[in-house]
This record gives sequence, structure tokens and C-alpha cells, in this order.
Amino acid sequence: MITEIKPSESSNLRGLFKGFLEDLACFLYPPHCVLCRKPLPDGLRAACDECRDELFSNIKPSLPYCPVCRAFYPDIFDGCRTCAGRKSPGKLYALSEMTASMREYLHAYKYFGRVEISEQFAHKAFELYARAPFIKDIDVIIPVPLHPRKHHYRGYNQAELFAKHLSHLFDIPMNCTALKRKKNTKSQTYLNAIERYANIKGVFQISNNESIKNKRILLVDDIVTTGATLYECSKTLRRAGASQVISLTIGRPTVLGQ
Ligand SMILES: [Zn+2]
Ligand SMILES: [Zn+2]
Repeated sequence: MITEIKPSESSNLRGLFKGFLEDLACFLYPPHCVLCRKPLPDGLRAACDECRDELFSNIKPSLPYCPVCRAFYPDIFDGCRTCAGRKSPGKLYALSEMTASMREYLHAYKYFGRVEISEQFAHKAFELYARAPFIKDIDVIIPVPLHPRKHHYRGYNQAELFAKHLSHLFDIPMNCTALKRKKNTKSQTYLNAIERYANIKGVFQISNNESIKNKRILLVDDIVTTGATLYECSKTLRRAGASQVISLTIGRPTVLGQ
């Protein structure tokens, strides 16, 4: 006899199976710091206190960053003047260069469920930008959405978790339903800049223009690479009537010439 498994039972079974796999993984590969590889006896964290403190102490306040020409530019500009008229996402602040340590740490956040990392970076952003002039103008925080299928598969949207903590700390409302991803695109990871812009074009849509109209928006993502995703999201938000879109990410590429 074939027993039909109802959706709730199926997700319970999936949860049990996932728990079993996690226990097995812990037994075979005891938790260790992703940065110095020392064992972490007190459980599932990404890094030991020393490595985490060193990583965060290296994050300093910085000027807005342009992912197109990979340079900083003065805070008083709305966007990079060198790239005015090109497909640039507009004003963007990024907490840190993607050093080898940042890459390891964010990898643990994005792919291995170390979701506590989102709160740590939100606290750092608050420390750096709580008194910054741009933050006072923001009406709403919007995370870059994942396609629902990818969200379901991963179990969380790393940009949304970061945005949720920012919303709480800065006391600015978050809207994670207005901007939607209508197409599930292939991963941008192995694409060059031109391919990334083409791959992401027309992927986003607005579900409710009224919630966007005349709003000053802080668009949030975990990592910026070429700026293609932020450009496409900010274009979609502006077309729906947003009066300003400023972006904030955790990681960014190296500044050229440094
Ligand atoms: Zn360590
Ligand atoms: Zn530029």
C-alpha cells in the first residue's frame, strides 16, 4: 500500500532527516572555526571569538563604493560621477572588502545556515552608520528577494535576515513583499559582468506600487559583485515611483588601484 505523505508530514520528515544529517556531520566533522580551523567545543558557530573579533575590528567606515569602476567616491555625490549614464546601481555603501576571511565567513552564512552572522553584521552597520546623514532620509528597507523556490530550498533569504536586523536596530520599517523575483535565474557566480546584467534583466517586479511611490529606499543585499542585481532592483523600484534608492551590502570587491 502506498501511504500518501501530507505536506506537513513531509516537512516534518525532511526536518528529521536534516537533523539526522547534521548530527552525523557533527560526528564525522566536529564543529570548527571556519577561519582558524580550531575546534569549537560549544557548538555550531561559524568562528571562534578571537577570529570573529578580529574580522569585525577590521571593518571601518568607508565612502560610497561604485562596483562598476570599483572605486570610492565622495559622500556628497548621489552616485559615481565617473559612471554617470552607465548601468550603475546608484549610491552604495558596503561594509567590507571580500578578503579571504570575509569570503569564508559569508560562505558559512549563505550556504551553511549560520544565520547568527546576519545580526553581527547588522550591529556593525549600525555602529558605522547610525549617525550617517543618508540613513536619516530612509523611509523603508527592502531586501533583494530570492526566487520563492530558492528561498524554500535554502530555508532563508540571507539578504532578508540582514535587512530584518537592520530594520530593528535603525528603527526603520522593512518591506519584503513589494519587490518580487518573478524568474528563477541561473546563478550569477560564474558569469562575467555583461552576462550578469543580461541574466538578471527583467527579473524583478513590484507587487504594490503604492508602497513604493515617493519612498526613499534602502536596498539591502549580502554581497555586491558587479552591481548587476542592485542595478536591476533599483531600476525596478524607481520605475514604480521610488524617489531615492540607496544600497547597502556586507561584502564588496577590492577597490582597483589599492
Ligand atoms: Zn578561529
Ligand atoms: Zn564608477
